[in-house]
Amino acid sequence: MDLCKAMNRNNEHVSAFLLSELGTSGSLDGQQRLVVKGRFLPKSFETVLRRYVNEYVLCPGCKSVDTLLDRDAATRLMYLRCQQCGASRSVTTIKSGFVARVTKRTH
Ligand SMILES: [Zn+2]
Repeated sequence: MDLCKAMNRNNEHVSAFLLSELGTSGSLDGQQRLVVKGRFLPKSFETVLRRYVNEYVLCPGCKSVDTLLDRDAATRLMYLRCQQCGASRSVTTIKSGFVARVTKRTH
């Protein structure tokens, strides 16, 4: 999840994308690590994360990663807005029944 911080992205959003792309379920643990059900090669995660960056992080105009995800209150569409050049485009909403469950630590 350090990765999410580096990308300036919401843990749950990244998790939802990962799980939906991998076709599995999982949850965030107390340390904000994503616990995924099933076995996957590190390479699979890499591929999916790269897709995430392309879709939700990289500015389509200047390739900057200094972008924000915004939801339009009226249309409920998600927008990627670049902090560098001001370009924006709509992004697809993640379709999945992912529910982020934060496991509480008992001690
Ligand atoms: Zn830009």
